[in-house]
Amino acid sequence: MIEPPWLEAPFASVKAAALAGRLPQGLLVHEAPGAGGMRLVKRIAQLILCHASRELAPCGSCPGCVRVDSGEHPDLLRIAPKEESKLQQITVDDIREACEQLVMTSYEGRGSVAVIHPADAMNVNAANSLLKTLEEPRPNLHILLVTNRPSALPATILSRCQRLRLPIPDRAVVLQWLGQQRPSPDWPAALDALGGSALDALDSDPAALRQLRDGTWQSLRDALKGRLDVVRTADAWSRDEFLLRLHCIERWVTRRILEGPETGGGLSELGAATHLQGPDLDLNIGAALGLLDEVREIRRQAATTLNKALMVEQLLWRIGTSGSAV
Ligand SMILES: [Zn+2]
Repeated sequence: MIEPPWLEAPFASVKAAALAGRLPQGLLVHEAPGAGGMRLVKRIAQLILCHASRELAPCGSCPGCVRVDSGEHPDLLRIAPKEESKLQQITVDDIREACEQLVMTSYEGRGSVAVIHPADAMNVNAANSLLKTLEEPRPNLHILLVTNRPSALPATILSRCQRLRLPIPDRAVVLQWLGQQRPSPDWPAALDALGGSALDALDSDPAALRQLRDGTWQSLRDALKGRLDVVRTADAWSRDEFLLRLHCIERWVTRRILEGPETGGGLSELGAATHLQGPDLDLNIGAALGLLDEVREIRRQAATTLNKALMVEQLLWRIGTSGSAV
């Protein structure tokens, strides 16, 4: 696989720090959703655990690099919420367990790496426990935290970590990269359904995602016109590709905001055509921004919510009335 070009500059800065002997013990990767934070972190782990010299690392082919790539390196630990965790949290036990393993000298003597993802899933006790580890630096122990919500982490943790930003990559660059990996006319639609996540797109079936996106968008247009069976649709979406549907909704609303009323699409069209002929743009944008907030809130709660269908139902009703509201 060709490395994503937008990860090159952030990786180069980490490698420069490593060559200067200044690789931080705590590194926080602040990624835009889907920007490839885990891909970057994997390369950083290879840089640390590669058998080649620092200048040449990561070589990609030594046993160290290969084991990092397959997720089987004994000196690389991944900390994530356990599947059985109802709140999808990283608990103090998860951190303690990992720290105990990391206390042992590294098997290969090149250091050890702990990856915490998503770092914002740590609950308060877990964060406190990690803080103790960060406050007692051990040589050659590197803790890599990946999150798209650093504000959800305690200031004490943030102050102990160096931060590396990974902004959302340019859509054109992502599309070009995807095309190089695997040509398909459906990449733009696939990105819409995946919330822009380039790395997820690579493993997907873009044609199937295009169908899903187009079907979802059609339903939203129907909702605007009051022609959608809202209850049935919400129920179906809650059982089928729920998160992808939310991405599609978000993208649809975003496009409406970006395109404005003159394109004759969606919210603006209904507002402009059936109610106000005048400067209703602000109101339309207000309604659209409110919808965006709502979609994002549903997504945040998606992992833990008991009633996805009800949340989507309310959203669809709101889309249905947002035209007449302006
Ligand atoms: Zn290597």
